[in-house]
Amino acid sequence: AAMAEKRSVIMVTGGTGLVGKAIQKVVEQDEEAKGEIWVFLSSKDGDLVDRKATEAIFEKHKPTHIIHLAARVGGLFHNMAKKVEFFRENMLMNDNIMECCRIYGVKKLVSCLSTCIFPDKTTYPIDETMLHDGPPHGSNLGYSIAKRMVDCMNHCYNEEYGCQFTSLIPTNVYGPHDNFNIENGHVIPGLIHKCYLAKQRGEDMVLWGSGKPMRQFIFSEDLARLTVWVLREYKEIAPIILSVGEEDEVSISDVAQMICKASGFEGKLVYDTAKADGQFKKTASNQKLRRYLPDYKFKPIAEGIQESVEWFAANYEAARK
Ligand code: NDP
Repeated sequence: AAMAEKRSVIMVTGGTGLVGKAIQKVVEQDEEAKGEIWVFLSSKDGDLVDRKATEAIFEKHKPTHIIHLAARVGGLFHNMAKKVEFFRENMLMNDNIMECCRIYGVKKLVSCLSTCIFPDKTTYPIDETMLHDGPPHGSNLGYSIAKRMVDCMNHCYNEEYGCQFTSLIPTNVYGPHDNFNIENGHVIPGLIHKCYLAKQRGEDMVLWGSGKPMRQFIFSEDLARLTVWVLREYKEIAPIILSVGEEDEVSISDVAQMICKASGFEGKLVYDTAKADGQFKKTASNQKLRRYLPDYKFKPIAEGIQESVEWFAANYEAARK
């Protein structure tokens, strides 16, 4: 009889974050995953900024595949204030992971970029080929440059060592287990938290900026399903944008109104236009994804927001905030 093939060990860095938790949920319901060993790491399992700690993780788990989500992440205001830390921590983590994948013979590495790292001055919609066409927006320079290097190095590792390293590019992600911190977090979780407090205190809900910028949002479980698909089926080294279509772009103001509705908030929504808006839009094309998966159905944003609002209220004590 043929020898049983060794079981794949799929290690997810950043396994306790917004995207990592969604992958855990998706994998629990996935038949193929039953024959695999999935390991979800948090920063408590080792600081990936540290090379020795990273090596110890590889020695311990002997991963055959890696989904690399761990990153220093944050919203616009936090990015603007901490550019050096955003660059250094992400650069070091990514370098440690890539180099250990090479040394330990990992069969496939999927890393996570972001649509916010694309050139500031560009034409829309942006697609995968435009990633390095010009400087990123100044507000998140540190984060963007560190993330762009992942794509460069994926190609270098492939050409020089034959490594199967690739990357995916999500638009704004939201869902349960998000970081709901109002100062440091992203727009949807921040607004969900604000709305929760405004409702409780009977105050106005204050939105930072004009509410006019347009964004595409992907529900964390959609991104999780698509990430597992990238790991199993996507063979290119070049990145792939994982996003809802251009027709599903919404304004921040639309999102705020959906959050008020989902929260049962009946007070006033006011705009603090003294606060920065960030990029007006960064519409991404999901044509490449659609060529591979023409029929994939994304969760409608009103439903995803409803679920996120309910999760936050039900998990208020434990939620990151
Ligand atoms: P979260 O902030 O929710 O989670 C970050 C994860 O990384 C946590 O599990 C955290 O561990 C881990 N981590 C952070 N620093 C370290 C470290 N030094 N060593 C080891 N682990 C560390 O992130 P998301 O789930 O939102 O993001 C996942 C990926 O998706 C990231 O690469 C991000 O850049 C990308 N992305 C996210 C978007 C979004 O809108 N959220 C948009 C586009 C891309 P612990 O829980 O222990 O702190």
